Amino acid sequence: CGIVGYVGPKPALEVVVEGLARLEYRGYDSAGVAVLSDGKLQTEKRAGKLANLRAALEENPRSADGIGIGHTRWATHGAPTDSNAHPHVDNANRVAVIHNGIIENFAQLRVELEERGCKFRSETDTEVVAHLLSEELAERGDNDLGAAMRSVCRRLEGAFTLVAISEDAPDLVVAARRNSPLVVGRGDGENFLASDVAAFIAHTRDAIELGQDQVVELRADSITVTDYDGAPAPVREYHVDWDA
Ligand code: GLU
Repeated sequence: CGIVGYVGPKPALEVVVEGLARLEYRGYDSAGVAVLSDGKLQTEKRAGKLANLRAALEENPRSADGIGIGHTRWATHGAPTDSNAHPHVDNANRVAVIHNGIIENFAQLRVELEERGCKFRSETDTEVVAHLLSEELAERGDNDLGAAMRSVCRRLEGAFTLVAISEDAPDLVVAARRNSPLVVGRGDGENFLASDVAAFIAHTRDAIELGQDQVVELRADSITVTDYDGAPAPVREYHVDWDA
């Protein structure tokens, strides 16, 4: 339902949770975040309101190294429980993924992943993406999360916005879209992405709307957009001039 991503010098956890709060008006049943904390991937997620997530984060405070992603979920596959809330991680707990939309061919992908030994921890359609990214990264051996995302997207059917971070690419937030919204916010030494500009408008009004079937690689000082084959892709840049 709601998606937020951040890379830059500000406290990533605060930026992401604040962004989720600005998307609350859309409705949701669960919320979660993933950050790198001293280089380690950490996730926290809770069914129910953002207040539940905030309470969990207060109970277990952690630093964030400059990247973070957050999600408010509107369940389509799997009940609104803590374990079905996003982010979803791979079995090595090195890659975290959040997702809006529906992956139509997830059941088949899940069977294949289970045959290869993956253990699933949720009933969502989303979790297949965490395992597929992990497999792809292992196969490539180059920690190229953007390339891994492009490759995984070519195997997915349905409508989705996907956002991923990995311990092995600690300066990077990667996102992809097909038939589901994704907007990038360009900052000064920091960058944002979200399902809706409302999530980052307090920080920047310079926005970039991604087109269909595109992948964006977001670092603190660069924004790279390609199609699913890695070719540079055209984007629409605009200035948000309404009041949030
Ligand atoms: N299909 C995913 C799920 O049920 C994402 C739902 C959403 O867009 O929030 O977990």
